[in-house]
Amino acid sequence: MTVEVSMFSCLSDNYGFLLHDVSSGFTAAIDTPEVTAINKALSNKGWKLTHIFNTHHHFDHAGGNAELKEQWGCEVVGAAKDASRIPGLDKGVHDQEKFSFGGQEIEVFSVPGHTSGHIAYYLADASILFVGDTIFSLGCGRLFEGTASQMWSSLQKLMKLPDETVIYCAHEYTEANADFAITIEPDNDALQKRIEKVRGLRSELRPTVPTTLGLEKSTNPFLRAEENSIQRRLGMLGGEPESVFAKIRQMKDSF
Ligand code: ZN
Ligand code: FE
Repeated sequence: MTVEVSMFSCLSDNYGFLLHDVSSGFTAAIDTPEVTAINKALSNKGWKLTHIFNTHHHFDHAGGNAELKEQWGCEVVGAAKDASRIPGLDKGVHDQEKFSFGGQEIEVFSVPGHTSGHIAYYLADASILFVGDTIFSLGCGRLFEGTASQMWSSLQKLMKLPDETVIYCAHEYTEANADFAITIEPDNDALQKRIEKVRGLRSELRPTVPTTLGLEKSTNPFLRAEENSIQRRLGMLGGEPESVFAKIRQMKDSF
């Protein structure tokens, strides 16, 4: 294995991730939700923190930057356009920029919607995608700074990646998302099966993350705005997918 991901729970419903490149020994924290949890995960693995990769500026994603940078002297990577609000940013990256992380090549996707500067990190060789608060298992991020049309294009960008891509999302929201998803697509067999599995996992407090792009494409209503069955149910058959997406997002907001 050339790359290893260590995932751990923190705060009330966040996931933290460490990404470790075996050849170089580099270790990145994907976002910094909670310093003590990150340091504990590092010491469990015997890894040293060399990088922070921020997906966006929210406090539950960048709140630990300053303290970790001070402690480890690590390099902070984040969206260039969020330089003013990502604490300690050293390296500002842009859409479709590729950079190397030890033996890994990492591609950045700009995915505005949840925030205007939100980015995702993609490791093509390892089929790994860190999406922050853009895609959740059976859900998607709230539109705090972007429009539905921006978020829909962001999701479409990610949906072009291979189905086997493993998606690490930053919160455990799956059960609540499932309650909503089934109201949008009650007859989706794949969704029904997924929900059963999710309930089983959550009843034992086990994580439903990571997920895969293929699984989300078959079950996540926010990625399925082009489906006739959904459009018909919403009375929007033949509608623009971005308007259908906007409607689903709006329904979820008041669910
Ligand atoms: Zn957020
Ligand atoms: Fe968050």
